[in-house]
Amino acid sequence: MSHDHESAPSAAAAAHAEGAPAEGGAAQVQQAYGRLRTAWREQGGLDYKTRMKLLDDVMKWVRKNRQELITALNSDYGHRSPHETLMAEVFTVVDDIKHIRAHLAEWMAEQPRPVAATFKPGTARVIWQPIGVVGVIAPWNYPFQLGILPVVAAISAGCRVMIKPSEFSPATGGIFRRIATEVLPPDVFAVVEGGVDVSAEFSRQPFDHLFFTGSTSVGRHVMRAASEHLTPVTLELGGKSPAIVHKDHSLAQACARIVAGKGFNAGQTCIAPDYVLVHEDKRDALVAELQKQFAAQYPTVAANPDYTAVINQRHYDRLQAWLQDARDRGAKVVQCNPAGETLDPAVRKLPLTLVLDCPDDATVLQDEIFGPVLPIVTYRELDGAIAYVNERPRPLALYYFDWNKKRQEQVLQNTWSGGVTLNDTILHFSQLELPFGGVGPSGMGAYHGWYGFRTFSHEKGIFSQSRVNGGKLITAPYGKVTDTLLKVMIG
Ligand code: NAD
Repeated sequence: MSHDHESAPSAAAAAHAEGAPAEGGAAQVQQAYGRLRTAWREQGGLDYKTRMKLLDDVMKWVRKNRQELITALNSDYGHRSPHETLMAEVFTVVDDIKHIRAHLAEWMAEQPRPVAATFKPGTARVIWQPIGVVGVIAPWNYPFQLGILPVVAAISAGCRVMIKPSEFSPATGGIFRRIATEVLPPDVFAVVEGGVDVSAEFSRQPFDHLFFTGSTSVGRHVMRAASEHLTPVTLELGGKSPAIVHKDHSLAQACARIVAGKGFNAGQTCIAPDYVLVHEDKRDALVAELQKQFAAQYPTVAANPDYTAVINQRHYDRLQAWLQDARDRGAKVVQCNPAGETLDPAVRKLPLTLVLDCPDDATVLQDEIFGPVLPIVTYRELDGAIAYVNERPRPLALYYFDWNKKRQEQVLQNTWSGGVTLNDTILHFSQLELPFGGVGPSGMGAYHGWYGFRTFSHEKGIFSQSRVNGGKLITAPYGKVTDTLLKVMIG
């Protein structure tokens, strides 16, 4: 599940991006951290009014600068579908902020909690305190959304926050720098940029919470670094998310939705269906249907504005090498190329590519694919498909295509994944009332809406003793009254 890094873009290239000069290097990480820590010590967290205003400012800026986002993402990808940028980097962010602003007052309100008879008339409540100064490390695949959403969640909880965008999306790094100069004040928000050395230094800061989105292998480094200060972490990682198709389900429906979830951002989505589990009798029909649905959604690939390129040469070459590895092991590789185009590798448009009869030790069945390559695995009984999933590391998402409620329950209760969409793909991500996160190797912790607010809040339990209370009855020297009371209490 690891992804190698290309060498980081040059400082000169980064300096050409718009906005304030980049903060980079270990010293800048410490400086930015120091600035936010000082602000925290002197001013504490953000009050309700400030949170609401800053969230509104971010939302307005994102709405106003949608074209700049389209341009930045296109530059980072070589080609990024403008519609995908509007959906995934603009709408998602606006939608989340609207939801947070509508509910923040209610989330921030202290919550009275019941008190057992033994401790009455004391009272209990929970208050939500901003956790403090927090760090966000972001990946390149939805480089704006996956950076700004945790920042927005941190602000909703009243925190001060710094971000390290991915070195592989430098134009989006420029967008964060603009937000740092045009929208969010320097005592609330900081951006630092750079390669792995800067990321590693970033993860070593004594944050009050560290929020990481990226690969499982780098997640291990981040958690190790955070453990030095016992900094709590949220790890939003990856994994191999299966799509299971029941043999009675309409293949046209299932394949349309699998192609949509896999085609979006050319499969470079943490919750893209990684492979399909299909009944062995339906395998050939499914393969034909996937090709048909791909042709319907993307009649051409090379110059099709709707189809996104692979982010860089390194990842393009990695995917080609994995396909070759599968071929070398005897798998059949079927490329969906509806218009029969000659595809220039320099443009890095890789159409949906199916891998059939693939031996289990092929890399495409071992590691997270993170691109438009889709192995098809067959099963005989639904239990066999469930066992296949359970024999492997717990995935970030699972998709099951079947209208039968009983079997849906069977799959839901007997598999473990971060989240699930039934009869579609990737849409659980967009549900503002659902927690989004992984389980085990696909991550820990969650965010979106209230779950993000909770992640960056300290849930403080408070018991208030009443003026008149029975404390004396259970205080030494213990005697008969205490004995009697204990008898009643224990039963
Ligand atoms: P990555 O792990 O290579 O990099 C992510 C970030 O970590 C980058 O900003 C990078 O600079 C930083 N980093 C690199 N080495 C580091 C270190 N030693 N210490 C601290 N930080 C370090 O991931 P990527 O290639 O950018 O993204 C792809 C991966 O992210 C896939 O596995 C995908 O599934 C996962 N992902 C998960 C989610 C989710 O929400 N769960 C979303 C998107 C992507």
